[in-house]
Amino acid sequence: MHNIISNLVEIKKEIKSNNLLNDSKLNIIAVSKTFPIENILPLINYGHTNFGENKVQEAIEKWTNIKTDNSDLNLHMIGKLQTNKVKQAVKIFDYIHSLDSLKLAKKISEEQIKIKKDLKIFIQINIGGEFQKSGIRIDELPSFYKKCKDTFNLNIIGLMCIPPLNIDPSSSFKKMEKAARDLSLSNLSMGMSEDYLIALKYNANFIRIGSKIFGNRS
Ligand SMILES: *Cc1c(COP(=O)(O)O)cnc(C)c1O
Repeated sequence: MHNIISNLVEIKKEIKSNNLLNDSKLNIIAVSKTFPIENILPLINYGHTNFGENKVQEAIEKWTNIKTDNSDLNLHMIGKLQTNKVKQAVKIFDYIHSLDSLKLAKKISEEQIKIKKDLKIFIQINIGGEFQKSGIRIDELPSFYKKCKDTFNLNIIGLMCIPPLNIDPSSSFKKMEKAARDLSLSNLSMGMSEDYLIALKYNANFIRIGSKIFGNRS
C-alpha cells in the first residue's frame, strides 16, 4: 500500500480505537496544499473524496482536470480568501471554510448567483481573539450569521477555527462547540494533524489533516 494511503488508514483506525466517532458522519479533509497532484492521485484512486487547499490559483492548476473526471470529489477552501479571487474560488471549490467578513459574504453571494452554484460555507471564528488571525469575533457571530443568511442567502453549514498555537486547544474547541449549538449549526471544522483527537472530543466532524497524511511540507 502507498504510504500516503496507509497514513490515512492509520488515522481512521486511531479514531475508531479511541471511540471518537460521533453520530454525525466524520469528514477527513486531506490537506494537499503544496503537494503536486502526483502525490495526491493515490488517495483519489483509493476513493478518498475530501481534499483541502489554501490558495485559489494552486487549486485551479492542480484540480481543474481531475475534478472534471471525478465528479464525486469535494474541494475545500481552507485558507484566507481575497475578494478578487472569489469568482475563481466559487467555480473550483465546493466548500469554503474561511468566511471572515461581510464584504466577502457579499462577493460570494454575487458570484454564486451568476453561475447558479451554492457552496457549503463555514464561518471562521477568531477563537483566541488573536490580532494576527482572521475570523469573526465570537461575540459578533450571532449578528454576522444572521446577515449571511438573511441578506446574502448563503448556505452556512457550520463554524471553523484555528486555535492559538502552542497551548492546549481544548477550551477553544469547547467554545466553538457551544457557539455552534447556540446557532443550531451542526458542523464544526476543527482539528489538524496535531490536535484532531482533541477536536473530535468536542464534536468536530470536519477535521483538516495535512502533514500527517502527506508528510512535512517543505
Ligand atoms: C495547512 C492547514 C491545515 C493542515 O495542517 P497540518 O498541521 O499539516 O495538518 C489545516 N487547516 C488549515 C487552515 C491549514 O492552513
